[in-house]
Amino acid sequence: MCLFCKIAQHEIKANIVLEDEHAVAFRDINAAAPTHVLVIPKKHIVSLSEATEADQALLGRLLLMARAVAEKLDLLNAGYRTVVNNGTDAGQSVFHLHIHVLAGRKLTWPPG
Ligand code: AMP
Repeated sequence: MCLFCKIAQHEIKANIVLEDEHAVAFRDINAAAPTHVLVIPKKHIVSLSEATEADQALLGRLLLMARAVAEKLDLLNAGYRTVVNNGTDAGQSVFHLHIHVLAGRKLTWPPG
């Protein structure tokens, strides 16, 4: 089973920020910003490229959980960035779909 499936099923410990029936948000173990949270579906989806029409509602839930994380961590005013790395060139290293929520410093653009 993949690493993030194990986190979703509480088989591996994570610092969980939010959780519901369909998704989990937890702190990234190697934070790239003062706040760095990952939002994952409990369903194993390898990457955004592997998502289908059947995942439409789930994808919406993930974005809303990212927003809920921002609200819970008081980021709505200062701002935050959501990122989905998709595939090798984008730097995806864990092949279970996840949304990065990054905040707490001025983030530059374009990303590296
Ligand atoms: P990506 O490079 O977009 O696939 O992002 C994967 C992220 O997962 C990286 O930022 C890692 O630091 C993070 N990560 C890997 N293992 C863990 C873990 N056990 N708990 C929390 N975050 C993790």
